Amino acid sequence: MTETRSTCPYCGVGCGVIIQSQADQITGVRGDPDHPANFGRLCTKGATLALSASSAVTQQTRLLHPMQRLRRRDAAQRVSWDSALGFASDSFARIIRTHGPDAVGFYISGQLLTEDYYVFNKLAKGLIGTNNIDSNSRLCMSSAVAGYKQTLGADAPPTCYDDVKHAQCIFIVGSNTATAHPILFRRIEDAKAANPALKIIFCDPRRTDTAEIADLYLPILPGTDVSLFNGMLHIMLWEGWLDTAYIAAHTSGFEALKTTVRDYTPELVADTCGIKKEDLLTAARLFATSAATLSLYCQGLNQSSSGTAKNAALINLHLATAQIGKPGAGPFSLTGQPNAMGGREVGGMANLLSAHRDLANPEHRAEVAALWGVPSVPEKPGKTAVEMFQAAADGEIKALWIACTNPAQSMPDQALVRRALERAELVIVQEAFATTATCDYADLLLPATTWGEKTGTVSNSERRISRVRPAVAAPGETRHDWSIAVAFAQRLEALLPGPGLRLPPFGGRSKTEAPVKSLFNYPTAEAVWNEHRESTRGRDLDITGMSYALLEEAPQQWPLKEGDAAGKVRLYEDGIFPTPDGKARFVNTVYRPVAEPREPRFPFSLTTGRLRDQWHGMSRTGTLGRLFGHVAEPALQMNAQDMARRLLKEGDLVHVTS
Ligand code: SF4
Repeated sequence: MTETRSTCPYCGVGCGVIIQSQADQITGVRGDPDHPANFGRLCTKGATLALSASSAVTQQTRLLHPMQRLRRRDAAQRVSWDSALGFASDSFARIIRTHGPDAVGFYISGQLLTEDYYVFNKLAKGLIGTNNIDSNSRLCMSSAVAGYKQTLGADAPPTCYDDVKHAQCIFIVGSNTATAHPILFRRIEDAKAANPALKIIFCDPRRTDTAEIADLYLPILPGTDVSLFNGMLHIMLWEGWLDTAYIAAHTSGFEALKTTVRDYTPELVADTCGIKKEDLLTAARLFATSAATLSLYCQGLNQSSSGTAKNAALINLHLATAQIGKPGAGPFSLTGQPNAMGGREVGGMANLLSAHRDLANPEHRAEVAALWGVPSVPEKPGKTAVEMFQAAADGEIKALWIACTNPAQSMPDQALVRRALERAELVIVQEAFATTATCDYADLLLPATTWGEKTGTVSNSERRISRVRPAVAAPGETRHDWSIAVAFAQRLEALLPGPGLRLPPFGGRSKTEAPVKSLFNYPTAEAVWNEHRESTRGRDLDITGMSYALLEEAPQQWPLKEGDAAGKVRLYEDGIFPTPDGKARFVNTVYRPVAEPREPRFPFSLTTGRLRDQWHGMSRTGTLGRLFGHVAEPALQMNAQDMARRLLKEGDLVHVTS
């Protein structure tokens, strides 16, 4: 038996796993006792990874060969890689020549590895000249990115998992940690057992399993988070619980926020949020007066029409009480997907650029263009995830390349998504699984490797980069995601540039000319990563002191600059923030009610959640019978009184419309 160290491909906790294999079969998996994210522990999903990678499952679910449909709805026919890549590059070049670079779009995934993300980003922005590349992380993490940047100056969680054990108060808000981040939740349980004085506040409209550990449960009405946070700040101000010296020395913008939160009286906020005034007061006291307060938050704050304001309003509380930059304290956004962080690091979104650079910043665009060796990076922001599908449904985007994600199941407004997939001239789906709903819409299916086969890196919620390593050979004709993107990019480079095809000087050549150096000269995943590493030099996430060799020894946290002995466990301990004046910024957050309660047609609020033993659209976890043991199927949960009033019984079928 061979044992290979790798990383779990599910949630953002980023647990280390040891894959056991025999003769190219994955036979088992166990937690890596040396991995600092989990120290050997795994949740049910992680522990059953080997079963989901078994040959029986692979034979039934995997996409193993390139497949093409000549007409939509026809059965897909097997084609060679050469033919598939030729078709893809010829079609893209034709569409770009005819309609311009913005007629194509890439929809990628927080489950791709950093190397995959990097190549796709460079392909779209550097070679084709469109910023129409966005990730499914847009639907979950983009508000966390914006919240951190607005307040702290950079998209960097300032905390780490170890802070759980140093905290004296943990504020869990908009996160069902027990279900969505189980191994992190085990740490919270351990911390509570070791320190009974630790206070845990849990805030969520639903009383989920996470509530079981809470000393104080705040069942706020959906969408009222900003009111809650502003109300807590109002009380802290009134009671004199703020750290005025920290505010004066290390922040700006407090006066405007102070004026705003005057209106958020305890009576008003308790009423808005639907909680007891006493509980609001207790929450404010525990948060402000504890020796170290750690906030853990996830989709309840992020996946929202006011997600950025929710993030910023919570971070305001940390800045106002100096609950940041010390052990056990800080705002800690938990990433849902295994590599949402890596995608953010390489700027794999429509409005971001490599190494936490901004597309809107001309200097940043010039820096990235220089790094990539292209004349420029386009200025016009790309279409974000939902906009991209809207544009395809409207006929504006003609070609969609979808990698490692299943929008025909997982995106909101399925009618729009399916209209987009029907109308697009060309849909290319790069996937490991042939069973996803999106595969049905593909003109071209490109088979990708997946967990247990892939090589590269991922970053977890605490800025820790871990290696993903292959335990078995790629099955069938599958290829790594980054190498598929590279092969496609090299073909596109070789095509004649036409109007709108914005190829760099060395790319615009005919097939008869001598080959010139490709922008995508990556013999290995490590070569891609090394280029990404160089792009971080001098940035807040500088990893120039890291290498694959160092990552072989142990996962590392960023930043880790050249010459540094180790990465930074915790950020902003010196009170200096990556803003022009070195100060963190309060954001003047104002509560805006969600639209629906004003509409009598929509009497209920619907929030979404996660099933403990399933992952996203269930392409992988849904293949295992045992993972349905905890919850047999997704269901709508409703307040018992609301059910009784509508004569609904447990198990009834209902139809919900929003
Ligand atoms: S907690 Fe997350 S990363 Fe860890 S084993 Fe479970 S799903 Fe995998």
